Amino acid sequence: MSNSTTTAIDLKMYINGEWKAAEGRPTIPVINPANGEVFAQLPQGTVADAKDAIAAARQAFDAGVWSDISAQERSEYLLKIADKIEEYAEELAVLETMDNGKAAGESSADVSDAAACFRYYAGLIKAPDGQTYHVSTDIQAMVVREPVGVCGLIVPWNFPLLMSVWKIAPALAAGNTIVFKPSEVTPVTPQKLIEIIEEVGVPAGVVNMVTGTGAEVGNAIVEHADVDLISFTGGTKTGKHIMKTAADTIKKVSLELGGKSPNIIFEDTDLDTVVEYGLGGIFYGTGQVCSAGSRILVQDTIYDQYVEAFVEGAKKIKVGPGNVEGVEMGPLVSQQHLEKVLGYIEIGKEEGATLAYGGNRIKTDGLENGYFVEPTVFTNVTPDMRIVQEEIFGPVVVIQKFSTEEEAIALANGTVYGLAAGVFTTDGARAMRVIRKMKAGITWINTFGPTFNEAPWGGYKQSGVGRNLGTFGLDEFQEVKQININLQ
Ligand code: NAD
Repeated sequence: MSNSTTTAIDLKMYINGEWKAAEGRPTIPVINPANGEVFAQLPQGTVADAKDAIAAARQAFDAGVWSDISAQERSEYLLKIADKIEEYAEELAVLETMDNGKAAGESSADVSDAAACFRYYAGLIKAPDGQTYHVSTDIQAMVVREPVGVCGLIVPWNFPLLMSVWKIAPALAAGNTIVFKPSEVTPVTPQKLIEIIEEVGVPAGVVNMVTGTGAEVGNAIVEHADVDLISFTGGTKTGKHIMKTAADTIKKVSLELGGKSPNIIFEDTDLDTVVEYGLGGIFYGTGQVCSAGSRILVQDTIYDQYVEAFVEGAKKIKVGPGNVEGVEMGPLVSQQHLEKVLGYIEIGKEEGATLAYGGNRIKTDGLENGYFVEPTVFTNVTPDMRIVQEEIFGPVVVIQKFSTEEEAIALANGTVYGLAAGVFTTDGARAMRVIRKMKAGITWINTFGPTFNEAPWGGYKQSGVGRNLGTFGLDEFQEVKQININLQ
């Protein structure tokens, strides 16, 4: 790994409207996963920095500089942020690919989704809400919605910009103030977003960003009594820790966690179509997608045909640096994550699964310093294997076999996760029967993967608590108050 720290982007924290470094501490190098080079340096924030950010957010909330302005005014700020994201779209997409490694087209799609998400919440916050109740002739009862207060927003590295926006946009729309912590692995586009928020004139203290490790600054945000809500996206293990820690101060907690999502293929489908969706379902984002279709369940009558066509498709995927034209799959995000994914491939082989394709790090054609892995396909797996049960979060798929609808449902629901699920069949009644049985928050019939700002995103079981996006995503950032008026 070369270390080009002299030319690296100098990142900062943003606290009470000021950009600042972490005093007296070494920075955290931010690495381009396509070539292993350091391209930015991140302040390693302290617990004291987190406390300063929380104090600023508390003060701004209590002063009402954001929560007490009209929904119309907040909406206008959100629309300006969306405009600026579009103005800087090209730069944001280039940085996202440098930071995370994803293919250029994926980065561009994330940037336009980010702008659309701000626009969606800019509109939604002006829609009618609340309820009135006719409880008695003496009392008029009603419900109003209010911001929760200071929100701690903690996000992962797989969609650095978009995961930030899924939380920041509804939190701001609802009138909250924010302490935001991006992933230490991919902090570059999150910082650009905060620069945009400053540029459009959001008052100081409303949005604060602290950077550093989860164990230190992330934990400090979760522990602090002045933080009213935690909205977290990341691994299930971290989510469990956060839920326990937040219990001490009874914060509202929303958790978007891991997945091991099934993609069920019945025999009555068009082979080319289901193979195409299967490939996209697992290899988009190099498999580093919480809702990845990492378990493909295929009916036994077409299993061999499916596997053969799937492997042929996997072979054709162009792997390389995300900024190279025509590349479909970029590297894994970090050396550490590369080791984790390669470790799971070894586990799969040791467990006795058949490695039908891939399984190796790619170290040819100029890719030797990046974290590239071949699209990897395991067959001949059993439900108890770790590669079937655990989230690998890389370009590794297991293809399972089933014979009946009942068996497909049992296998599909047979993990601790419940984020997403898909079914492919031309029998409409069966499609609905199967989807209704899925213990999953996001489901697809005859497609796999699309998501919309308008629809709720989140999981059942150990895939999480609460929802991002849609009206449900706004609800997370609002309290509900009952008001009773004496009419006598
Ligand atoms: P992670 O849990 O390691 O880290 C996520 C964030 O939490 C980072 O900012 C990290 O610094 C912080 N953190 C770590 N320990 C902490 C602690 N003790 N207290 C507070 N904060 C802490 O996850 P990751 O490796 O960055 O991301 C990958 C995971 O995210 C995968 O499991 C994936 O499925 C999940 N994910 C889920 C969704 C969803 O919508 N369900 C979306 C994207 C990613």
